[in-house]
Amino acid sequence: MESTHYSFNRNVETYSHSDVVVIGGGPAGTAAAISAARSGKRVVLLEKSAQLGGMGTLANVSIFMPVGNVTGIYRELISEMLAEYLPEGHDQSIAPQYSPFLFRQYFNEKMKKENVQVFFHSEFVGAVREEREIKAVIVSTREGLRAFEADVFIDCTGDARVAIDAGVPYHAGREEDGLTQPMTLMFTMQDTGKPVKQVLPEGCYVYNDVADLPQGRRLYWERNGDGSLLVNMSRVKANGAKIEDVNYAETEALRQVFSIANYLQRTGFENYTIAHIAPQTGVRETNQIEGLYTLTEQDVVQGTRFPDVVAQTNYEIDIHSPDAQKTTDERKVDGYDIPYRCMVPEAFDNLLVAGRAISATHVAMSSMRVQATCYALGQAAGAAAAISLDGGGAMKDVPMAKLHAELARQGVRFLGQSIEV
Ligand SMILES: Cc1cc2nc3c(=O)[nH]c(=O)nc-3n(C[C@H](O)[C@H](O)[C@H](O)COP(=O)(O)OP(=O)(O)OC[C@H]3O[C@@H](n4cnc5c(N)ncnc54)[C@H](O)[C@@H]3O)c2cc1C
Repeated sequence: MESTHYSFNRNVETYSHSDVVVIGGGPAGTAAAISAARSGKRVVLLEKSAQLGGMGTLANVSIFMPVGNVTGIYRELISEMLAEYLPEGHDQSIAPQYSPFLFRQYFNEKMKKENVQVFFHSEFVGAVREEREIKAVIVSTREGLRAFEADVFIDCTGDARVAIDAGVPYHAGREEDGLTQPMTLMFTMQDTGKPVKQVLPEGCYVYNDVADLPQGRRLYWERNGDGSLLVNMSRVKANGAKIEDVNYAETEALRQVFSIANYLQRTGFENYTIAHIAPQTGVRETNQIEGLYTLTEQDVVQGTRFPDVVAQTNYEIDIHSPDAQKTTDERKVDGYDIPYRCMVPEAFDNLLVAGRAISATHVAMSSMRVQATCYALGQAAGAAAAISLDGGGAMKDVPMAKLHAELARQGVRFLGQSIEV
């Protein structure tokens, strides 16, 4: 079918003007909003769903993978919500499992305390650009389209939605074929103390062996010690930023979930029933902006250190097969820095991209994508936005000494620094 294009001109009323608008309330977005607010800025946080926490709550990815530096806002979340896991020094690793429901509630209260104005059910639809600046974002709200103006915008949509709409160059997935990591629908099961009725709804599969499973492995966690089982075992070949892929993923992943649960009930979890299925299938990888610096596999493997470091991690290279084969490429890494420049699109003076959509290659993003790292990137982005507004210049010119000083003031420590600094 020949495609038709429409020009869509509308007069859109401005809803508010703030210092900083953060788009997307996942790990990067919540940290960016808190950080900018702590630096004294008026902050609006726009979230298209009804909850904060991003994949960590919405997609029930309710476990933190270890990164080797428990610092800043991430450390604070651990101390406030999972104190029993808080390491004494920051340069350690933890991998706590948590309740996505408690975190959802926690974020609401936290944002109130931090004076961040949160707008739920507010989905970014377009950027208003004037030369090197974004003037406003157009947002679909329950009252229709509204414009949210600000002096700095931080794109934390995970998909670089704002940056791409504004014209920032980007790439997706593997260099050779553009395939991204597959999607997974997370679910939990609960021990009921007695054998449960096994069901296999219409359309589902019979898995008999580990080799039949979508990932070719049993991947779940029981760390809460309360009879709950967090299951990460479905796998659907899809790019979560594509219309047709998402339609396919949301049905195929649900089929797999019921099939996996049925398999588990026959192979050791006879007393377990499905307790919760995430409201949406989790998205690991979609778009990466092309920023002032692109983090590479070599940086991750060699452990590159950067003078403009904003996050540190030693999380492994972790690539679920983009072809949806039953393989996962997992390679240990010793630790590396992520530079500020990965968040800066060259063509704009007042836009940053934080979280999993930063400038990184497919392999590098497989390591930097986990939640703790996204919190660290968001925190740095929020602090940088505030410095820019306080006379620090365009986002690309924010002085690193000032950014590092502000992050230190906010409790961020890099390796080699003690926690009492
Ligand atoms: C299945 C799966 C398993 C994973 N396992 C782990 C794990 O075990 N441990 C770990 O630490 N990490 C894990 N990760 C990775 C981690 O969860 C994500 O990479 C991380 O949450 C990314 O954070 P983010 O803030 O960049 O984006 P996201 O978490 O994707 O958050 C983006 C937010 O922006 C919102 N948004 C998107 N578009 C718009 C728009 N147009 N307007 C307004 N809001 C918008 C979304 O609703 C969402 O709230 C996993 C991910 C998946 C999918």
